[in-house]
Amino acid sequence: MARRDRFAAVVVMAAEPAVQASSLYRFYRAGDEETYALQGVSVTALRGEFIVVAGPSGSGKSTLLACLAGMDEPDGGNVRIAGQRISHQPAPVQARIRARHVGMLFQSANLLEHLTLAENIALVRGLVRRPDRVDTVSMLVELGLADHARAYPSQLSGGELARAALAVALANAPTVLLADEPTGELDSVTESAVLDLLAGVAGSGTAIVAASHSVAVAAAATRVITLDNGRVIP
Ligand code: ADP
Ligand code: MG
Repeated sequence: MARRDRFAAVVVMAAEPAVQASSLYRFYRAGDEETYALQGVSVTALRGEFIVVAGPSGSGKSTLLACLAGMDEPDGGNVRIAGQRISHQPAPVQARIRARHVGMLFQSANLLEHLTLAENIALVRGLVRRPDRVDTVSMLVELGLADHARAYPSQLSGGELARAALAVALANAPTVLLADEPTGELDSVTESAVLDLLAGVAGSGTAIVAASHSVAVAAAATRVITLDNGRVIP
């Protein structure tokens, strides 16, 4: 590739959205009952953005995140991660895109109980054929977990577990970090520590999309999108 083309390719990559969800629809049917969980939701997240999806319980936040992660299929619309379509693809394709580009953080149960923190990280690393060179040791130092690499989840405090979950989510240097109520079970001090870390993660070029109804989380975001009844409130 000529030098100028290579330069152009790098510029395109940098400008390409980390996540691009276009007009997502998701319906659930149980007997005669139909639930419209998503009704035409579009979201674009660039690297470096920290987007919070707010809205009342049942407004579609978790459904949206599951569709962005390729864990649920939208009934309409599509999702692209780092330029690659993840929606309506065979499961192995979705898994590959997810392993390479998506880090996931949930309210709880982010770690396998019978593995140490270091083993949990190694497991996630193993999902990617050619992982980026993420330095585990310096990541653990940065997250204040340097002394806990050999600890099992049950040996960690609540705050340490939250940071350990983040370490696992970041293990493959994801293009986007998807977080569903990431601070839902944390006290306010731990929540604010995790939010500082998330702001740092976004600052270093990862896109974050986090569902939360916490005011503190919304305050840490670079942009807030509010859902109501499966629609984005303008
Ligand atoms: P939130 O995360 O904002 O609380 P959800 O995305 O979990 O909202 O749910 C949105 C709507 O879709 C709710 O009305 C919920 O009951 C419904 N829903 C979610 N998952 C399912 C499912 N698997 N089957 C049926 N209805 C569902
Ligand atoms: Mg939810």
